[in-house]
Amino acid sequence: MLNEFSLISRYFSRPSQQPGGALLGVGDDCALLAPRAGKVLAVSTDMLVEGRHFFAGSDARALGHKTLAVNLSDLAAMGASPRAFTLALALPAIDEAWLEAFSAGLFALAGPAGCELIGGDTTRGPLTLCVTVFGDVDAQRALRRDAAQAGDDVWVSGTLGDARLALGALRDEWTLSAGELAETRRALDWPEPQLALGMALAGVAHAALDISDGLAGDLGHILTQSNVSARIDVDALPRSAILARQTPRIQRQCTIAGGDDYQLCFTAPGHARDAVLSAGIQAGTSVSRIGTITAFDAHGDTPRITWTDAGGQPLALALRGFDHFDD
Ligand code: ADP
Ligand code: MG
Repeated sequence: MLNEFSLISRYFSRPSQQPGGALLGVGDDCALLAPRAGKVLAVSTDMLVEGRHFFAGSDARALGHKTLAVNLSDLAAMGASPRAFTLALALPAIDEAWLEAFSAGLFALAGPAGCELIGGDTTRGPLTLCVTVFGDVDAQRALRRDAAQAGDDVWVSGTLGDARLALGALRDEWTLSAGELAETRRALDWPEPQLALGMALAGVAHAALDISDGLAGDLGHILTQSNVSARIDVDALPRSAILARQTPRIQRQCTIAGGDDYQLCFTAPGHARDAVLSAGIQAGTSVSRIGTITAFDAHGDTPRITWTDAGGQPLALALRGFDHFDD
C-alpha cells in the first residue's frame, strides 16, 4: 500500500525537463526558484472542490488537466510566462488508477507549457485540488485589471459560452444532442489556457483578465478597478456554431453570465488594433472586438456595463456573473 511519501515520489516527482528550471524541486522543505533577470514573479492560486467546481466521479485525467489549466489561465491573463507550480491535494483515499490518470492529465499540460511541479502538500480529506503557479513577467508590461482607459476597445479571445452550454445540459436546464454535448463538454472539461496570446498582448493591451465566472462579472472587475464603464455589443460576442443554434435567451445567458470559459477579455487603444490582430494570429487564436471603454459617470445612475444590440441600441439585461456565494 502506498503511503504519503511513496505516493508523492511515484506520481508527483518528475525530474525537471526545463533548462533554467527550479534550483531545487520536490523533496525538500522548500523549492528554490530564481526569478529571471529583469522579471518579476507572477503568482496565483486556484482551488477546485468536488461538488462545487466539478461533479463527483469526474474523469481524473480531465481533472488533472483542468486543475493546472485554470491556474495557467491566470498567468496568461497577466501576460506572464509559466515557470513552476505547487500542488496541494486532499484525497479521500489512495486510488492508484485515479492518481495515475490525474497525474497524466496534469503533466501532459505542464510539460508543453514549460511549467515544472516543484512541491506541494498531500493530505486525506474531501477531494480538493489546489495549484499555485509561478510565472515570469516584465513588471511594466504585466496586464493588470486597473489599466483600462476610456476610449479603449474591448476584446475577447476564442468563443464564449460553450462550457456553460454543456453544464446547463448536464443539469437538465436545456437539451443538446449527444454530439453537441460531447463537443461542448470539451470546453468545460479541457479548457485551453491562452498563454501564447497573453504573452503576445503584454505591452500591447492595457488591461486583461481571464473569464472564469462569466463576461458580465469578470469585465466588471476591470471596470471597477480601472474606474471606467463599457458599452458592449451583445451581437458581437463570439459564439460557436452549436451555441449560435440555441434560443437567443440561452445564447445570452451562456455568453454573458456563463462561466468556465478561460478566454481572455482585454482592452487596448484604438491605434493597437493591428497589433492585437497580429497577436491573435501569432497565438493561433481568434480575437473579437466587442465594445468600447467609456468614462464612468460617478453622479449618474448608468450601470458599469451598457449592453447594446449591433445597432448600438441599449438592451435591458439582468444577468450577472456567477458568484459562489450567491446560490
Ligand atoms: P513538509 O512536512 O515539509 O510540509 P511534506 O512531507 O508535506 O513536507 O512533503 C514532502 C515533499 O513533497 C515536499 O518537498 C513537498 O513540497 C512535496 N510534496 C508533497 N505533496 C506533493 C504533491 N501533491 N505534489 C508535489 N509535491 C508534493
Ligand atoms: Mg507538507
